[in-house]
Amino acid sequence: MSIIVQKFGGSSVADVTRIQRVTDHIIQHKKNGYQPIIVVSAMGDSTNHLIDLAKQITPSPSSREMDMLLSTGEQISIALLAMAIEAKGYKAISLTGYQCGIKTDHYYSKAKISDIKTNRVLDELAKDHIVIVAGFQGMNDLGDITTLGRGGSDTTAVALAVACGADLCEIYTDVPGIFTSDPRVVKEARKIDAISYDEMLEFAKLGAKVMHPRSVELARKNNMKLIVRSSFNLDEKGTEIIEVKNMENAQVRGVTLDDNIVRITVPNVPDEPGIAYKLFSKLAAENLSVDMIIQNLNHDEHNDISFTINEDDLDQVEEVMHLFIDEIGANPPLIKKTVAKLSIVGTGITSDAKIASGLFGRLYELGINIEMISTSEIKISCIIDTACADRALNEIHHFFELHKVI
Ligand code: ADP
Ligand code: ASP
Ligand code: MG
Repeated sequence: MSIIVQKFGGSSVADVTRIQRVTDHIIQHKKNGYQPIIVVSAMGDSTNHLIDLAKQITPSPSSREMDMLLSTGEQISIALLAMAIEAKGYKAISLTGYQCGIKTDHYYSKAKISDIKTNRVLDELAKDHIVIVAGFQGMNDLGDITTLGRGGSDTTAVALAVACGADLCEIYTDVPGIFTSDPRVVKEARKIDAISYDEMLEFAKLGAKVMHPRSVELARKNNMKLIVRSSFNLDEKGTEIIEVKNMENAQVRGVTLDDNIVRITVPNVPDEPGIAYKLFSKLAAENLSVDMIIQNLNHDEHNDISFTINEDDLDQVEEVMHLFIDEIGANPPLIKKTVAKLSIVGTGITSDAKIASGLFGRLYELGINIEMISTSEIKISCIIDTACADRALNEIHHFFELHKVI
């Protein structure tokens, strides 16, 4: 019998009616001879509500207690889903991350899965149970609950699929698949039937929150077949994420926007060896990721260093910045929150110079200033002001004719 992992996001289990609908779908797969492992997120917006509650207690709760709090959301949905399946006469068991052997490193709120001991899950499948697993959580060496970062249930699903030898991992969400851009912002966005792991990974890293980036990375590394599809229209074919051999013709596949970023500029740092090391090693020691980095030489032998970070890390980054500034005697950093990263994605797009010039030219025509640029073989990203971000996303999507079926 083959194992299938099906992951249902928060909107797919937002209320009792939706839980019932998902239940019938899962049972249908059981009847069809699969051994289903189901991964669920917290109901609807409940993770956000939990965050709001914590912030009412203190503006800077410890990350250990945040993980303790946020992991409860998923515990509610697994229990309700297991009850719903039992109520229809099928055997089900809900398991927390710890109970299904998901071990993580020690970084609260952004833990990485280090190992999965699959014996409990496989035993329960052998007992004919449908296994319902709480997404987004695991346990570290201290025995503390950790969470994998926002959207992390996708990663739980893929990691379990890989560890348990599943044939397929399906991600059910509130849109019918992967689109050429966020369909909620770009009305012309088109569903893509199949996309490569590399392109999907870039989409995810660059703000298409439909998939947690680490889930795509894991699937690619282990060749796990992934399908993203709608939990609202269960008959609709979704998007397959597959290995696609590189084509010669570079083509823009999608446009993404990430407005959960902050630009930090440290003005007037000495132009001497070791400055960048002193700054970025301190951030790395705290496991804080930095994205784009730009250094400009000023006329007086001093540099401005600018970089972008995830907005969720801002408090921690500010603490580290103070240490750096004290050490080298630089001016306080300038922080700009009203920035967004607009990116075009497609294998090999930087090999065709017309694509980059087309992007920059269109932004120029629209009167949109580019504050930073970064490129890789598969993407071109521009930092722009948030105020024009949605307009830019729509215009650039149209400019590259992504609304047209190729
Ligand atoms: P879930 O709760 O199921 O995990 P998410 O909210 O995390 O769902 O992700 C789904 C959302 O991702 C969609 O509602 C959509 O607005 C957004 N999204 C952003 N970019 C894309 C894209 N390129 N294709 C599909 N959805 C996208
Ligand atoms: N409930 C968590 C979140 O809202 C994890 C997830 O949904 O994947 O981020
Ligand atoms: Mg998600």
